[in-house]
Amino acid sequence: DPAMAEQGKQVISKLLEHGHEAYWVGGCVRDELMGRPVDDMDITTSALPEEVQDVFERTVPTGIQHGTVTVLSGDCAFEVTTYRVEGAYEKHRRPAEVAFVRDLREDLKRRDFTINAIARDIEGNVVDPFHGINDLEARLIRCVGDAKGRFQEDALRMVRCIRFASVFGFNIAYRTWKGLLEERENIRYVAMERFRVELEKLMAGSKPSRGLGLLYRSKLPAYAKVPFPYASEARLIRLIDDLSPEEPAIRFALLLYACAVPAEKANAYLRDWTFPNTVRERIVGILNVGEAVEAMDHTSPCRLEWIRIVLRFGRETSESWLRLADVLKAGEAAGGYPQDVLENGRAWMEEMAVYHMSELAVTGKDVLALSGRKGGPWLGELLNGLLVRVSSRELPNDHNRLIEEAKQVISTHE
Ligand code: ATP
Ligand code: MG
Repeated sequence: DPAMAEQGKQVISKLLEHGHEAYWVGGCVRDELMGRPVDDMDITTSALPEEVQDVFERTVPTGIQHGTVTVLSGDCAFEVTTYRVEGAYEKHRRPAEVAFVRDLREDLKRRDFTINAIARDIEGNVVDPFHGINDLEARLIRCVGDAKGRFQEDALRMVRCIRFASVFGFNIAYRTWKGLLEERENIRYVAMERFRVELEKLMAGSKPSRGLGLLYRSKLPAYAKVPFPYASEARLIRLIDDLSPEEPAIRFALLLYACAVPAEKANAYLRDWTFPNTVRERIVGILNVGEAVEAMDHTSPCRLEWIRIVLRFGRETSESWLRLADVLKAGEAAGGYPQDVLENGRAWMEEMAVYHMSELAVTGKDVLALSGRKGGPWLGELLNGLLVRVSSRELPNDHNRLIEEAKQVISTHE
């Protein structure tokens, strides 16, 4: 984003004018060198947080004890962090204290991977003491310094290592991978929320099967705070890459399916793994549709049963499952599902007259009024029956006609 780059340059210039050092650093430098889109631009500086606050009018003390001040400039926000080193680590995750330093190299040294430890000045010159550019060219994820020690300090780096390897399609340097295997049991100190965020980034990449394969080999999921029984079928895992990264819920649904986790169990896992409720419900919904389709009576025509499933789990979720099923079918892995639904499910769904009770031209109130009875399960059943018949176009969605039908149903049950 050229506008953001321009604003950022102004922030750096201003720090320089006040006699401080300031550089672009971390992910933005790496992504730019790789020709990838840059979303957040971090700045590292010799200025202390108070000095940064003095230089700019609009600042937010985001993480002032760790040296981070957010500087607002135009419509953009930049995290400006003072050069720092980290003290001893507690519980393999958080440094007990940080100390501000005056030397950029010290700051770069505390960063996780060589490709994340490159700084760039306002003119474009790089400071790259750990040869991150070489590793970018060699497509390698390599720890800064001794891998075992770096993973011991902060166990989250192990998942980041695999996430970067997966998203960029890089290999992991031999000693880095070895250090990871030696330290993997410490992953249990990492909050599931942090693990989950990395997993989401991995799954949003162009080839998540790669990272999932590395995760499997590392056994990190098995040692996590909430262990995930990762016994997957590699053939199915590979199919995840064929689903769009724009639809992470479908990818996660296929992952759980590939690991033979049923919907109910998946719900508990996703909860423990701190997935937001809406995402969790979506993933579980997709698995539920699959299970309902699998439970169909394969010998009878499936159309009405499929329409019932769409009404029960919703159009969007059913559509998502269809996309998953398309990918399974293309991979010749859709054996558990009736051919009829795989071939016609989408067309049947699109032909439906209504998709939800709220669209029905008759309400529970209407039916209660004409029946003279008290509400109860019979009412839901009756409305649901009408809904299926209207959806499938057996009945028109016409108020008077539906009232007639309702009367008939009530009279035959009396
Ligand atoms: P992305 O934003 O694409 O996920 P990133 O590299 O920018 O990747 P951030 O989490 O935004 O990742 O961190 C910014 C920088 O901070 C990293 O590039 C790295 O230099 C440093 N960093 C982040 N997390 C760690 C960590 N756990 N240990 C050491 N350094 C880290
Ligand atoms: Mg970043």
